[in-house]
Amino acid sequence: MIKYVSTRGGISPVAFDEAVLSGFAADGGLFVPETIPKITQAQFQSWAELSYPELAFEVLSMFIDRSIVPATDLKKLLDDSYSSFNSQSVIDMVPLGRDGRTIIMELFHGPTLSFKDVAMGFLINVLDYLLEKRNQRLSIVLATTGDTGPAAAWASAGKKTIDCWPMYPRGMITEEQERQMTTLNASNVHPIGVDNCEDGADDLDFIVAKLFSDHELKEKLNLSSVNSINWCRVVVQSVHYFYGYYRAVEQVGDEVNFSVPSGAFGNLFGGYLARSMGLPVNKFICANNANQTLHTIFSSGVLAKKNLVQTLSTAIDIVVPYNFWRFLYYCTGSDSEKLKVWQDEFKSTGKVEFDAATLNAIQNGFMSVTVSDYETSKTIKDTFETCDGYLLDPHTAVAVVAANTLKDMLPKKMKVICLATAHPAKFPETTRACLNLGTEMPNQGKHVSLERVSKVCQHVRICDLENLEFALIDAMTTRLKMQAD
Ligand SMILES: *Cc1c(COP(=O)(O)O)cnc(C)c1O
Repeated sequence: MIKYVSTRGGISPVAFDEAVLSGFAADGGLFVPETIPKITQAQFQSWAELSYPELAFEVLSMFIDRSIVPATDLKKLLDDSYSSFNSQSVIDMVPLGRDGRTIIMELFHGPTLSFKDVAMGFLINVLDYLLEKRNQRLSIVLATTGDTGPAAAWASAGKKTIDCWPMYPRGMITEEQERQMTTLNASNVHPIGVDNCEDGADDLDFIVAKLFSDHELKEKLNLSSVNSINWCRVVVQSVHYFYGYYRAVEQVGDEVNFSVPSGAFGNLFGGYLARSMGLPVNKFICANNANQTLHTIFSSGVLAKKNLVQTLSTAIDIVVPYNFWRFLYYCTGSDSEKLKVWQDEFKSTGKVEFDAATLNAIQNGFMSVTVSDYETSKTIKDTFETCDGYLLDPHTAVAVVAANTLKDMLPKKMKVICLATAHPAKFPETTRACLNLGTEMPNQGKHVSLERVSKVCQHVRICDLENLEFALIDAMTTRLKMQAD
């Protein structure tokens, strides 16, 4: 049976259901599998033609025991999770430009138009499945930079076992993203807009972490997390690397590169996981915006907390890439003692410098770039004008700039897959500004699902960061009382 341990080494191994239901490990660490399973050559060859849900079934079967989720149930959960997608294939691959090398992997065809839907729908369905079996309920609290919140709210809406509390920094996400959370009309979804978040969603993550560290409160409020610290999110996020790989290569066995717009390192950790399982990846390009915490680690071995810079690619305006600890755990050969020291050091000083051996392990198979807003907007415009009107969202544009910057350092002709993490319709003002359009918008920049949410009433709690902890506990307690009555 595959077991999960904590990056901080302070718990006895648990099964998949425990890891998923609790979000954080009890010692404050992140759940990781004891060992990463490897795929055989036969598996690797036989997966090439599978559809996305079929492929997800194969990959997830290596991480979820049948005794916890039997095969027929897993199949059904996957089919349910991906039937709400706007593309039959779930993920679409679009060659960009004429060089034949760059391929856009569109991960934004889910119900809330970002790559977060790819893993969130399944995670919420699995939670619901496990909770129903145990006759339990959970309250999911999460901070969002604009895409996790809508994905979690949409997937939770109407679920009897789950209350969902998405919190967002007010004014720092687009109106479209805000409305995706506040117009659902579901009595179990409770969005909270928070004012005065200087460090954006990181300020909110801090409050979430604080709630979780209070064990009594965590029990009382039935708290869990679906941020990308939840193991289920990252493991599902490894599937699209396999899927994209098979669609891009001329021959199974060839190597490819992936360029990934990165914030909290959840998506890239999925890639690392896929490669560790045996997927032939040459390089992962970690594409940052001006908030370049990850680029600083990859280029100099220093993890340092800086002030947040607001950019055009708001979903990756993140200063603490919390999934990086997971990656680091494997880079040190599962040395949880080392990790504990670093994590505590980072918590108290906001800075850690890694030793040479660790930096070497970190850099293995990774490259990184930081991309400016100027380059992002120029690339949106250039791509629109030279690639038959293909419209990039600002995050995908960061990945494309990074790929273009580093392409010459990669083996000639080797494919570069750029992960398209959001639909441009979520960022209309940026699109207009980049394309110099005034008020008109090309059809590529619109989406029908956003027309309805722009018209109906919003339902939201508003509060100031200063009072958030108190206000949130108060609101959640009231909700629990109402349910008990
Ligand atoms: C969340 C998100 C990212 C970053 O993913 P991480 O897992 O945090 O690195 C990139 N682009 C978009 C549009 C996102 O919503």
